[in-house]
Amino acid sequence: MKNNSLDVFPPGSIIGIMGGGQLGRMTALAAANLGYRCHIYTEDTDSPAAQVSATTTVASYKDQAALTQFAKAVDIITYEFENIPLSSITLLKNIKAIRPSPSILAISQHRGKEKEFAEQHGVNVAPYKIIKKISDLESAIKTIGTPSVLKTCRFGYDGKGQIVINEPEEIHSAWNQLSSDDLVLEQFVEFEKEISIIIARDTNHKTKAYQAAENNHVDHILDATTVPADITDKTASMAADIGLKLAESLDLIGLLAVEMFVMGDGTVVMNEIAPRPHNSGHWTQDGAQTSQFEQFVRAITGQPLGETKMTRPVKMQNLIGDAVRQLPSFFTNPNAKIHLYGKQEVRPGRKMGHVNILEP
Ligand code: AMP
Repeated sequence: MKNNSLDVFPPGSIIGIMGGGQLGRMTALAAANLGYRCHIYTEDTDSPAAQVSATTTVASYKDQAALTQFAKAVDIITYEFENIPLSSITLLKNIKAIRPSPSILAISQHRGKEKEFAEQHGVNVAPYKIIKKISDLESAIKTIGTPSVLKTCRFGYDGKGQIVINEPEEIHSAWNQLSSDDLVLEQFVEFEKEISIIIARDTNHKTKAYQAAENNHVDHILDATTVPADITDKTASMAADIGLKLAESLDLIGLLAVEMFVMGDGTVVMNEIAPRPHNSGHWTQDGAQTSQFEQFVRAITGQPLGETKMTRPVKMQNLIGDAVRQLPSFFTNPNAKIHLYGKQEVRPGRKMGHVNILEP
């Protein structure tokens, strides 16, 4: 097994990326700038990442023969989304090093484990209860109260797999709709705003934090991110401390995005973590000394981290579904930096690209 955390992979090495979405695409572009080649493993043909990478394997995430061949063909493995079966990750890690480590992926794949880990390390989360059966939900609603949010522990993203419960009577319909025996009920947080922080940690355990970003969601999907976030210095340093503490406790090599709620009194409550580049970090492509994608590549290949300082205030606007039709106005805006994902079909809720609008 090759899993030495001190391994350095020089430019020219092949980075295997599990997942073919836009995060993989932008990682592959940054990797190419540093002289690396990327091999994408995805279930989809003509994926955003495959369009810009040297090699692609199109196969099921459970295809053991294809996974084995992929692992043998690359020098180091990473992932651009979290919902990879753990059995496949185990197969891969027995052949090549995976960064960030599979143990971090196992935590971030499961909302319950994520919250438990945060609590164990003194990080505030909303009051919650793990729900395995309807009687758990009946008793949990009495302690957590309403409004609350019932979420699937796995495979939830962009608001999918979650239902707000406003009255205790709604629990049965929420239970039936989610139809899972692996759920979490959490208190609805009356937050002031949502922020996120991105932390990088390298093989020498050096860490760097990016400026906290302020996130605006529409229909549970990230719509826009503004940097710097309109928060006090105290809140910003609390957010950075939480991110650094989690990155260190997880023994991260790579990137960690931490989404948080800011309360009226300026304190923060962690919502969720992701051990990969994050949509709320896209501003770094045009507004920071080193983009989150380059930083990710540096960290996982054992190179020193780049500087994270903000160079210019930015508003990152996602182009979701039909919003991509606004492109002509961005093409004529000298302060707009356009990033498109190469997706052919426009669908409601589909992230087609984003624009970083720099402060003039
Ligand atoms: P998540 O998938 O957990 O990131 O949730 C998506 C979005 O739903 C968050 O960014 C919030 O806007 C909202 N949300 C999730 N959980 C809660 C909560 N416990 N209280 C209030 N809003 C929430």
